[in-house]
Amino acid sequence: CTFDEMGIRDDLLRGIYAYGFEKPSAIQQRAVLPIIKGRDVIAQAQSGTGKTSMIALTVCQMVDTSSREVQALILSPTRELAAQTEKVILAIGDFINIQAHACIGGKSVGEDIRKLEYGVHVVSGTPGRVCDMIKRRTLRTRAIKLLVLDESDEMLSRGFKDQIYDVYRYLPPELQVDWLTEKMRSHNFTVSSMHGDMPQRERD
Ligand code: AMP
Repeated sequence: CTFDEMGIRDDLLRGIYAYGFEKPSAIQQRAVLPIIKGRDVIAQAQSGTGKTSMIALTVCQMVDTSSREVQALILSPTRELAAQTEKVILAIGDFINIQAHACIGGKSVGEDIRKLEYGVHVVSGTPGRVCDMIKRRTLRTRAIKLLVLDESDEMLSRGFKDQIYDVYRYLPPELQVDWLTEKMRSHNFTVSSMHGDMPQRERD
């Protein structure tokens, strides 16, 4: 299928084509529609097959840009990947005026505070810094409807589990969670364990 057939908003389509994409990659053909329809998806593919770009385009499709609240949160295992995802979101979402910010360790906390208080639609970050910003109440989680775990097998095996759980507990109960992974089975994480692994959240 084509990007045109996916029901993607026109000004976002323009951004996708302007970025140089002509048609969806294999993983994009299979996973874009379920994600934008609101399903919890586990998408597995080798690196370099279009997963990061898929995050960018689905997130751009799903946020309401007339609001300045954070609506999508993407967690990545490395600063580089989190920054790269922010960059692709800003490029593809140029015509919809998407506001995105990378919350990553090693960068200025002051800049995070400034950007988050200004208001962004999407945060792409590493678990530690994101958790920190949530606890400071600088990153408001009230309007977040989508959590994307990029390289989820990497993150879960790299000791980020506690921080991801910590973040997850602050997110609204009606949350869509999408998992992107290179390997379905590494370090004893299977699909069901990935899913079942998320902690119960307390509701007030
Ligand atoms: P990603 O896995 O999203 O980082 O993508 C790997 C490379 O493929 C990057 O250079 C992307 O810009 C490119 N790419 C991703 N999706 C597409 C697409 N649908 N058409 C052409 N290039 C793509």
